[in-house]
Amino acid sequence: METENNQPKESFWSRFFVNDIAIDLGTANTLVYVKGRGILINEPSIVAVRRSDQVIMAYGSHAKTMMGRTPGDLVTVRPLKDGVIADFDLAEKMIRHFIKKVQTNRFIRPRIAICIPSGITEVERRAVRDSAEHAGGREIHLVQEPMAAALGVKLPIDEPVGSMVIDIGGGTTEIAVISLSGIVTDISIRIGGDEMNEAVIQYFKKSYNLLIGENTAEAIKITMGSAAPHVSDDVKLVKGRDLVDGIPKTVKVHSKEIQEALAESVGYIVDAVKLCLERTPPELASDILDRGIVLTGGGALLKGLDERLRIDTELPIIVAEDPLKCVVLGTGRIFDNLNEFEKVLSPTKRY
Ligand code: ADP
Ligand code: MG
Repeated sequence: METENNQPKESFWSRFFVNDIAIDLGTANTLVYVKGRGILINEPSIVAVRRSDQVIMAYGSHAKTMMGRTPGDLVTVRPLKDGVIADFDLAEKMIRHFIKKVQTNRFIRPRIAICIPSGITEVERRAVRDSAEHAGGREIHLVQEPMAAALGVKLPIDEPVGSMVIDIGGGTTEIAVISLSGIVTDISIRIGGDEMNEAVIQYFKKSYNLLIGENTAEAIKITMGSAAPHVSDDVKLVKGRDLVDGIPKTVKVHSKEIQEALAESVGYIVDAVKLCLERTPPELASDILDRGIVLTGGGALLKGLDERLRIDTELPIIVAEDPLKCVVLGTGRIFDNLNEFEKVLSPTKRY
């Protein structure tokens, strides 16, 4: 049974028997979906660590509130950065923490499917698999991100038609054409939401001598950023620290300025999409012309990005219904028919 937002309804017994867990291990957000119960965890992939003894003080949302505000001994770390695992140990602890949080019965060892950024190496895959195993997983399946995204938006990936998905996450943008349960063309670039935040930070530094934090930059991007050629007339006050005299100050910015700041990152994404289309075999390209391109990931929510892609590619662009959740829901769907989806799982799933 499915509710409005594609999430299955929680059944009474599923509270006690957690059997199938799907995890979207994103560079920005980690989501955990439990079959029969829905998405139970949706938190930033951040941990706060006490430097002196490496003890983890906070995970997820709690750790994010500490970002840029920590005293000397405490640091906030993102274990995944730029689509790769930057800190193995912390990534493992974070995965285990989130799995433990959803487990209600220690005697049942769940099946776990994890969607991993496609840029991660063989060694890193192994580390993710081991972490899930240590956390009590009975069977571990690693799923390629574009496949999970496509499954999440219910594209007919096993049919002989081309489907194109663009997943814009924190660290990377992954563009893939899928047909007959395989990835035909795939481009991954290290440009995503983080790069856009950084561009906003740099813009304020250069134009106003103002230093702003990552969370502030992200909030500005979300509320004022745009990728579309048309200009909205939003003006907001932004607070930060003056680079020259070091004291807090406020500046007034126009949304057009933020649009300019994001233009380069957006340009890279558009170019990569064009390149992927160029590399797509003609039969599949004609399918995409009919069926369009689906946008997923948090970056899909950037205002005007769909319009910009529509103008530049002249193709229909569809933003997924819930772009931040479709990867984890797609990962969860592999349990519905493991045999059928065996093909879509990462080829390195057995060791
Ligand atoms: P990942 O899969 O790497 O964890 P997500 O798909 O969760 O990434 O997307 C997170 C990124 O999306 C962040 O960089 C965040 O700033 C960005 N994001 C979220 N909402 C919006 C929005 N409304 N406009 C622009 N960017 C957004
Ligand atoms: Mg993602």
